[in-house]
Amino acid sequence: MGKTLVVGAGGVSHAAVHKMAMNSDIFTEITLASRTKAKCDAIAKSVKERTGVDIKTAELDAYNVADTVKLIKDTEAELLVNLALPYQDLVLMDACLEAGCHYLDTANYEPEDEAKFEYHWQWAYQDKFKQAGLTAILGSGFDPGVTSVFAKWLKKHKLDSIRQIDVLDANGGQNDQEFATNFNPEINLREVLADARHWEGGEWKVTPAMTHKVEFDFPGIGPKNMYLMYHEELESLSTHFPEIERARFWMTFGDAYITHAKVLQNVGMTRIDPVVHNGVEIIPIQFLKTLLPDPGDLGAETKGKACIGDIATGQAKDGSGEKTYYIYNICDHEECYREVGSQAVSYTTGVPAMIGAAQVLKGNWREPGVWNMEQLDPDDFMDMLNKHGLPWQVHELDGPVEF
Ligand code: NDP
Repeated sequence: MGKTLVVGAGGVSHAAVHKMAMNSDIFTEITLASRTKAKCDAIAKSVKERTGVDIKTAELDAYNVADTVKLIKDTEAELLVNLALPYQDLVLMDACLEAGCHYLDTANYEPEDEAKFEYHWQWAYQDKFKQAGLTAILGSGFDPGVTSVFAKWLKKHKLDSIRQIDVLDANGGQNDQEFATNFNPEINLREVLADARHWEGGEWKVTPAMTHKVEFDFPGIGPKNMYLMYHEELESLSTHFPEIERARFWMTFGDAYITHAKVLQNVGMTRIDPVVHNGVEIIPIQFLKTLLPDPGDLGAETKGKACIGDIATGQAKDGSGEKTYYIYNICDHEECYREVGSQAVSYTTGVPAMIGAAQVLKGNWREPGVWNMEQLDPDDFMDMLNKHGLPWQVHELDGPVEF
């Protein structure tokens, strides 16, 4: 159905590219390009062994817009799937505009020297994409991504309006590491150590990171402590569903993770500004990333399940008053590893990246402009989640959440 250029060859890309190759009727030709070509070649080898599909590989520094434009033209890619880092979102959007290619990513743009998770930089591309007749899909991972599509599906099929929404992300996975993050350590720690912000009564409420803790009994996992934190879908959901009175995001962390993260922060290892060490300028969090395990390599040793979903309350479509629904997926780390050689966090991001890309190539999501996932029709995406490894369930709860 279409030629695709994937940029970035880390943990998420590994899962996404395998799933694209398993759907070669949609992804008729795949090129994988990244800063380190050897990583692309390793993924290509695994894809060939597991699926029999050949993919092309190339070396690319995404900051070089001219090189990206040339690669898009050489490969005749219809869609660029950005699975590199949030820092490269804008340069890759620029390259797509110049080369005439649709765009999709999984995380919003962040300047490297400021831990700011805001959409305005990418929303500012709205007119340029519209005028070029091109589509840009923002945040097609699990959260953001599936959690936003879940909200849209509830609004299309169950609720006329959403009064309040809580996104709950639990990772019950265990591995042999003393301390490891489940996706890129630098991006993960910047996100987790940022102030917790949630949307309430028309404004952002700010609390210090990892201070508001609640125990929740997660389906398929059991009781776990989850912490209030900021996540980018809160901004897009509260913008696109303006009736939302309260939107919050929660993520589970074990005590050992929190202790490590706090110590690293206290000693300055999570700083994102340059410091001079022995006459050389280094950025401590980037050095820390070099020391920590690569999350993409943890698949073989990670056991347990992840459960991510939304609890939303609003007026029922059938006029029966206020209703609350919990919609979620449960994903098993070992099953993901057996299927594509990834742990569940790479898988739960990579599969929605593939499904979002499929929506563009199939022509379902083609309106020119820049879109967040809750602005788009959810039905085929939800159907593909069930067919491609992330089945979901929806249950009515007795009433709104009490935490
Ligand atoms: P990794 O660090 O494992 O992979 C990133 C890849 O991008 C690496 O291959 C890296 O190359 C490559 N890269 C970095 N800089 C450049 C550049 N200038 N040019 C070309 N390639 C570059 O990250 P993950 O796979 O864990 O995460 C990928 C993305 O997914 C991130 O943006 C992350 O925020 C997002 N994400 C989204 C989630 C969601 O649910 N929405 C959840 C988890 C992650 P090299 O190997 O040379 O370093």
